[in-house]
Amino acid sequence: MKARLLFLLVALGQLLYAQNTVTLEYYLPQNISYNPDIPKPSEIIGHEVGQWHVTHDKLLFYMNTLAAASDRITIENRGTTFEGRPILLLTVTTPENHQNLESIRQDHLALTDANSAAMNTSNMPIVVYQGFSIHGNEASGSNASLAYAYYLAAAQGPEIEELLANMVILLDPSFNPDGLQRFAYWANVHRSQNLNPDKNEREYHEVWPGGRTNHYWFDMNRDWLPVQLPESRARIATFHKWMPNILTDHHEMGTNSTFFFQPGEPTRVHPLTPKINQELTAEIGTYHARALDKIGSLYYSEENYDDYYYGKGSTFPDVNGGIGILFEQGSSRGHIQESENGVLTFPFTIRNQFTTALSTIEAAKNMRVKILDYQKKYFQDIKREADRTRTKGYVFGDSKDPVRTWHLAEILHRHKIKFHELANDFTISGKAYKRGGAYIVPLNQKNPRLIRAMFERRTTFTDSLFYDVSAWTFPLAFNLDHAQLSALVNAGEEVQEFTPVQGSITGKSNYAYLFEWHSYYTPKALNQILQKGLRAKVAKTPFTLAGKRYDYGTIMIPVQNQKLDADELYAFLAEIADNSQVAIDAVSTGLTQGIDLGSNDFDPIKKQNVALLVGDGVRSYDAGEIWHLFDTRYQMKITKIDTRYFDNVDLSRYTDLILPSGWGNNVLDKDAADKIKDWVKQGGTLIGYRNVANWLKKNEILQLKMKEDSLKAKNVRFDQKGDYLGAQVTGGAIFEAKLDRSHPVGYGYKNDRISLFRNTNIYLEPEENSYDNPIQYTNAPLQSGYISEENETLLKNSVPFKAKRMGKGRVILFTDNTNFRAFWYGTNKLLMNAIFFGPLM
Ligand SMILES: [Zn+2]
Repeated sequence: MKARLLFLLVALGQLLYAQNTVTLEYYLPQNISYNPDIPKPSEIIGHEVGQWHVTHDKLLFYMNTLAAASDRITIENRGTTFEGRPILLLTVTTPENHQNLESIRQDHLALTDANSAAMNTSNMPIVVYQGFSIHGNEASGSNASLAYAYYLAAAQGPEIEELLANMVILLDPSFNPDGLQRFAYWANVHRSQNLNPDKNEREYHEVWPGGRTNHYWFDMNRDWLPVQLPESRARIATFHKWMPNILTDHHEMGTNSTFFFQPGEPTRVHPLTPKINQELTAEIGTYHARALDKIGSLYYSEENYDDYYYGKGSTFPDVNGGIGILFEQGSSRGHIQESENGVLTFPFTIRNQFTTALSTIEAAKNMRVKILDYQKKYFQDIKREADRTRTKGYVFGDSKDPVRTWHLAEILHRHKIKFHELANDFTISGKAYKRGGAYIVPLNQKNPRLIRAMFERRTTFTDSLFYDVSAWTFPLAFNLDHAQLSALVNAGEEVQEFTPVQGSITGKSNYAYLFEWHSYYTPKALNQILQKGLRAKVAKTPFTLAGKRYDYGTIMIPVQNQKLDADELYAFLAEIADNSQVAIDAVSTGLTQGIDLGSNDFDPIKKQNVALLVGDGVRSYDAGEIWHLFDTRYQMKITKIDTRYFDNVDLSRYTDLILPSGWGNNVLDKDAADKIKDWVKQGGTLIGYRNVANWLKKNEILQLKMKEDSLKAKNVRFDQKGDYLGAQVTGGAIFEAKLDRSHPVGYGYKNDRISLFRNTNIYLEPEENSYDNPIQYTNAPLQSGYISEENETLLKNSVPFKAKRMGKGRVILFTDNTNFRAFWYGTNKLLMNAIFFGPLM
């Protein structure tokens, strides 16, 4: 038997290289029998695992078929992606456990209550959440899930029986269905019958934007904490429903790499993660090592990757009493590719993912009681810690914008964090919090550490290198008033029914309607009004009417001389108030204290037609964030123009052109620059982001004085060079700037301070005249996150925003990303101000 097997494997290896025709046996443990009634992947999807890249449709088909055939598996659809693909979850355990699944779940959740001390874990199943290919073009994970699900359904014998009796496996075969589908298409359409490992082959060079991201080009492995995307929302609901003990996240890395499993860099673990979490991760790692040793695969751990930002799948569990584990497999990209480690086949990468999926559950089985006890103790410890600390909770809100306030509360709600209405209005640190416009989050609840991870500011660090952002403090990202509370005397009822903010209109007017610009969805409202062909104006100074003060940027819609008559206009605006959650006032006179409604200080606003540069050379994340903002939040059409055919596009039909950040300065050539200049001179508004600053400067579209660092390494050894240079990277931190609210870019902001997210090292000198610097970093700008001393010096009093006239048009520059990862609600309005009020700047 053994000899036959060996022969088979050798023969298999040879075949593999020639035609990539592996069989399922290549992946599976061979010392056990498999239930013949369970369909193999090839019988359902028409090809062997690893022969082609599985499309999401086929993956779905197989998982549904498997669930129907196996009494160990139930399947559910938890929602749909932006492209309408189901977001699947398989629950795998014994048929007996399936009968009692709800009580198993309840018992498991009880373990995360602070008063769980008496609970006995010795007979309790452990919960393991295994997810694959959150980056769609790291496809070995999702392809491995076919073989893995088959194994779980079909494997026979006491070992698997015992394992499943003690475990509930939540199997998420595709964390990113839209990205997986996009990548499978790419890899499959280039596959030759004679598989070609030449690294220059087109198969291994995906076109922009690639399958890594989801539909709107988001990196979904940054969204576990902000939960802004449908895929993450489904996942997070499952997470909190089950509070898994182990969560694994199967990725791929560069082709010349081997295989990585966590723990990562020991010095780069978030301080809210307990030390024992890393020790348990390391112990689980010994199972991966043994399993990979057995099949001869190279691997490493405790390097490269960190465990810092809680928005990643392998880190999020660490602040929730679980253990998150990152796997990274060197990628074959397509079906086979030459590498520094020899020819790397797609099946080989799949087998490593399969093998570590299996070693994960073996570790879970053997370490079950230890890991369950760790979870139990975690929640007891953090409860005691919260009882001891002086901070008892947080308050956040905005007296002018209940919608932004609501959206932060929505994140808490998705994480099952409780929050309260205010019992009464109160003022703290000079900020007034009003009932109905603010919430209090007490720390005295299930997971105070998760709340701290979302609310706290951190400016000191044990390491100066970060794999991702170093700060994500949510009330700053939302630009909300907020404070720590040392007592909860102002907390009222806990919010039970969490319903969206309602818009309103005070009545029908024969004169005019007004709404202030502060509420989050006012751009959506204004856009509908302008698209309807109605006239609207913006107030350039504040005024008071009928006892109410209207701030800078108030929108006025006169009733007379419109396309709609007074009744139709009222009906239309009532609909807009409702769909945009805006409060619209009907007024009966134009006479105000301050500028009257007929004043020239009300400027007409034009209908906008916005174009966005995308394609090769543009950073797809930044472009996707803008597309998503316009399309899903403000319901505004935006035309994506690809760099490939930009030269042939007639720009005259657009009022605005947005150039997102790019990797180089050569995205658009000199001819394109001239074309853009001509268009601006004719009245266009050009909006550039981040390193587009260099391109604008080089092409003399914008005069910019940049502050440069004069850093020279002293006493830095050659092998320290990477760390030394890495410490100068501003990976993503939060900084405070002064805001001139009378400048159109500041309309809709209540405070004269604003928090900005920054992940560039571009530092602009301010203009000589103060009114030309509506946004300027303060003298002590760091609010949260890491920046090197040298860079902080450069940042002080520099400006992140420029607006200059050119002919009849405007050139506007933001050096910082105002749309970061869909959760920076607090700065989205800056871009909308540039769009609607650009001509006023
Ligand atoms: Zn990845």
